[in-house]
Amino acid sequence: MTNKVYLVGAGPGDVELITLRGMNVVKNADVIVYDRLSNPKLLEYAKDSCEFVYVGKKANAHTMKQEDINQLLVDEAKLGKMVVRLKGGDPYVFGRGGEEGVILNDRGVEFEVVPGISSSIGGLAYAGIPITYRNIATSFHVFTGHFSNEDEEHPWEAISKLKGTLVFLMGMKNLEKIVCNLKSNGLDEGTPVAIVNWATRSNQRVVTGNLRDIVDVVKEENIKAPSLIVVGDVVDLREKLEFFEKRPLYGQKIVVTRARAQSSKLVDKLSNLGATVFEYPSIQIREIEDNENVEKAMDILDDYTHIVFTSINGVNIFFERLFDRGFDSRDLANSKLIAVGSATKRALRNYGLNADWMPENYDGDSLANGLREMLKSDHRVLIPRAKNGRADLIDSISEVCKADEVILYESVVDESNVSELNETIKKNDIDYITFTSSST
Ligand code: SAH
Repeated sequence: MTNKVYLVGAGPGDVELITLRGMNVVKNADVIVYDRLSNPKLLEYAKDSCEFVYVGKKANAHTMKQEDINQLLVDEAKLGKMVVRLKGGDPYVFGRGGEEGVILNDRGVEFEVVPGISSSIGGLAYAGIPITYRNIATSFHVFTGHFSNEDEEHPWEAISKLKGTLVFLMGMKNLEKIVCNLKSNGLDEGTPVAIVNWATRSNQRVVTGNLRDIVDVVKEENIKAPSLIVVGDVVDLREKLEFFEKRPLYGQKIVVTRARAQSSKLVDKLSNLGATVFEYPSIQIREIEDNENVEKAMDILDDYTHIVFTSINGVNIFFERLFDRGFDSRDLANSKLIAVGSATKRALRNYGLNADWMPENYDGDSLANGLREMLKSDHRVLIPRAKNGRADLIDSISEVCKADEVILYESVVDESNVSELNETIKKNDIDYITFTSSST
């Protein structure tokens, strides 16, 4: 995969609706040229060195002209880079992907196309609308809702006679005109219409009506682009086939403040439940390098009868240091392993080790009390953990036996996105802000 341009369909919006091939290509790209309709979350899968070029495109507010985009693709490819042109939906469905392909061909640049799920089909599915249905819609038709040449028109008379589902893209500015044309050419005024805004994204909104009232409904509900206009009886099936908006957190806006490295699981879970998640790590985990105390502890590992792990980060960094020394998990064979909670326990499992003990309640007091019960005066405890951990844990153990704390990492404030976070909170009606530790 090199020295080529890939015209990639990103799918309608939900990140997971890109194809496997699309994702592979994104992961290997040197440059990704993307616009408003391809979900920017996809960029997180690119390699660290990948460059991103946003070329915008909102009706009337083109960030980069099409000719300039074409030129950019040609130039980057000629530099020997693997170029991905990421487009919403399918690249050849009103995405000007065809034009880009033709130019690349004319300029002697090799390219490939990775098809995507078009919003005109997949977007409807997430709104609970099947684009065909036996005896109800026996064909479907996808139209542009706007022409670059204003004198051009669809054959409305023929369209109004079709017994299929009509889908209009880029049509919100002309909604009234589209509706009028269908009505005045004989399509029943009661024909159901749905407008699907930001289909398949967590902020998807759907309104329904019919040819008579949909223009008013859209005004009332203030629905804007990007939206799909769907005309046909299949719209009524939404009552039975809608699933996306039924998810428990649908419509909820949630801020996640957890450190980046650990936030993705939480973000995935919340997103899968339907929430719109804003990720703003408020802390960063900074490892403490060149730590003499860690080295000392490693020198006498055999002396420790107990090792107490109080966090996943503590476990992971501890093992990193252990392996750096050329040791492996067997070097802990003399020690009982204590985990503060089930997540820390699972982290130990990743290194092939079972925790010998875990307090029933996930808190410092239960940990300290349990330890005091099990420890004897000739024991020695190692506690690899974060800076500024609770001092009373060490104090409490020290009353029974020797306890060595080694500081592996610290949580530092992540200032990098404070202003963006403030903007988000001001602009959106945030429903929840999550905190997963005292430091966040
Ligand atoms: N290639 C794209 C379409 C590009 S044209 C595809 O196959 O889906 C841009 C138009 O597509 C928008 O104006 C809007 O009508 C529609 N569109 C694309 N993604 C959409 C989405 N997630 N929700 C609603 N409409 C969308």
